[in-house]
Amino acid sequence: MRTLRRALRPLAIVAIVFVTASAVPAQLGPPPMELFEPNALRVFVCGSASPLGNAPDRAQTCLAVIAGERMFLVDVGAGAARNVARARLPMQNLEGVIITHYHSDHIADLPGVNLNSWVAGRAEPMQVIGPQGIEQVVGGFNQAYALDRSYRTAHHGLALLPPEAGGMTARSIEVGTIYEEGGLTITAFEVDHPPIEPAFGYRFDYLGRSVVISGDSNATDAIAQAAKGADLLFHDAMLLPVLEQLESMLTAAGNERLLKIVQDVQDYHAPTTDVVELAKAAGVKQVAFYHLVPAPANEMMVNQFTAGLDGNVVVTADGMLFELPQGSEAIEQRQLFD
Ligand SMILES: [Zn+2]
Ligand SMILES: [Zn+2]
Repeated sequence: MRTLRRALRPLAIVAIVFVTASAVPAQLGPPPMELFEPNALRVFVCGSASPLGNAPDRAQTCLAVIAGERMFLVDVGAGAARNVARARLPMQNLEGVIITHYHSDHIADLPGVNLNSWVAGRAEPMQVIGPQGIEQVVGGFNQAYALDRSYRTAHHGLALLPPEAGGMTARSIEVGTIYEEGGLTITAFEVDHPPIEPAFGYRFDYLGRSVVISGDSNATDAIAQAAKGADLLFHDAMLLPVLEQLESMLTAAGNERLLKIVQDVQDYHAPTTDVVELAKAAGVKQVAFYHLVPAPANEMMVNQFTAGLDGNVVVTADGMLFELPQGSEAIEQRQLFD
């Protein structure tokens, strides 16, 4: 056995070198600064999954909205920080993180995003914006990661990682305009995700183009109102036929705990058909399903999300970039990574 291990060792080293050589340059390459040109509103999908389902290629909810030199992350679920790094988005440009509500799949990567933007050279604490409750979430993370930050400053030095820039600050908001600068307006509106109150969605307007993000919600008139005439609506999307199949399987297996959860989940997300109705009522040009319930593990299941739907609907994947150029009706789409 030992002889075999010794014989395989050079192969293992070659494999490590190969993996390193092929993986590192992609992460170290120049950031895609063309995304910051003030000629379009852009949205990068840094996480498209809900917690339900088994999709290892998908991080939990995260969208990066880029409007000229301004970049915001909307929700940062588990895996979001890694996807932002894979896309080489310059984290020192991060203006803030905006949270829709405080379920774990929307906040889990706050520490990762905070660390990455501090390391990238952020000069001030990271601003985290959200509805009532934000102080508790940010305060808790700041406390839990205080030791981590102190180790990093002690190790890498005050000049590189100044402690005064290392933490996060909380900004509690109400519905209405929450940001207006550099031609970008961000508006918060209430969504329906009981028992969470309030839970918010957000609308971004820039250069005459508009993107609306629902967060987690049933499809409601309030969202249709907020999305009126918008170019692109990111809405959470639930595939009911698959959940019904899952219910039958769990009933047959006698797994009552998971059955209860799968049934409860259906109270507070929007079935795909409802989202399409909402988009029609609002006159939205294109719908992008995200926060997919359940997160699809393969292409066949991705296609099920739009099967039989009548409308301009896209199912998002991690790495997708949407570009809405100024003075145009176009919504362009490409992958920043596969
Ligand atoms: Zn939620
Ligand atoms: Zn969620």
